[in-house]
Amino acid sequence: MTERIDIKSRTIEELKVLLTEWGEKPFRAAQIFGWLHEKRVPSFEDMSNISKALREKMARECEFTTIKEVDRLESADGTKKFLFELSDGQAIESVLMKYHHGNSVCISSQAGCRMGCKFCASTLGGLIRNLKASEMLEQIYEIERITGETVSNVVVMGTGEPMDNYDNFVRFVRILSAKEGKNISVRNITVSTCGIVENMKRLAEENLPLTLALSLHAPNDEIRKQMMPVAYKYKLEDVLAACDYYYEKTSRRITFEYSLVAGVNDSAECAQELSKRLKGKNCHVNLIPVNPIKERDYKKSRTDAIQNFKNILEKNRINVTIRREMGSDINAACGQLRRSYTTKDTCDREEE
Ligand code: SAH
Repeated sequence: MTERIDIKSRTIEELKVLLTEWGEKPFRAAQIFGWLHEKRVPSFEDMSNISKALREKMARECEFTTIKEVDRLESADGTKKFLFELSDGQAIESVLMKYHHGNSVCISSQAGCRMGCKFCASTLGGLIRNLKASEMLEQIYEIERITGETVSNVVVMGTGEPMDNYDNFVRFVRILSAKEGKNISVRNITVSTCGIVENMKRLAEENLPLTLALSLHAPNDEIRKQMMPVAYKYKLEDVLAACDYYYEKTSRRITFEYSLVAGVNDSAECAQELSKRLKGKNCHVNLIPVNPIKERDYKKSRTDAIQNFKNILEKNRINVTIRREMGSDINAACGQLRRSYTTKDTCDREEE
């Protein structure tokens, strides 16, 4: 049997092609797209202005991708963390954060991750598989459905490396920002990458004004290699050049993420060296006190070290903020909820 069509991962243009192949009128594409991504009906059956024959054909030929909530943690500050199960039983997590300017959802782009960053829980079990565009979209749709909230900002900073799932990620952005669908402005979507140079350059050329966040975490290759294996593949110099290129093409200010780990990358010298590297760039540095995970002995920097690091950057006229810790009472660092679920699962199986 040929694989079923993942209809929620198709752009309107692609739906037009499909419908034409099926002998249908192309204008049906926008109607079907609207049912899937704006009204979000629970089945093909509910697409009331589509003929019964076409609804039945779609039900036969297409996958109606959904995800299912299996766990939730709620913080006193309103942050909610969701664990979702995919149709093949894989688990992924997503987070809803409430800010003054609106609601933001952090989504996963892969089940697991193969980048191997030393401080990150998402990578401990390796990469299981890429998420489809529909599975990225459903995280947002399902959170809106469950909570009744409207999401205005999306950050692709959950489990996975979006530049390692490039095509599905770009497709996700095009569908999410389509006016016939959820219609989120591309500017309100942020993508975070550990620095996969070729794909950062490709992204710069997509004509999508996304906010790009680069996981920098170190002022030089030597320290970066201790924290992020990807640094063996791409030199910091090339990663920063790719950021410059992205800025040149999109005029979007780059965000540099810097997770502070005690005794590893939080010294005054590191702050000075970082300042030199970033001097003159139109950028923003986000300092994140590392969230310790039990499998590694990385420790959070002391408050005075964090403040000192920030002061040094400021003296060098670099825009910098210390990331407000959301949901610290449900802290489960990124990927920890999923990890506790998948490891529990393995234990259960071992006991059987
Ligand atoms: N793979 C992408 C996106 C996912 S990680 C990337 O590397 O950017 C999102 C951000 O959280 C990255 O900056 C990552 O380095 C950071 N991060 C992961 N685990 C963390 C932890 N335990 N403490 C602090 N930051 C962490």
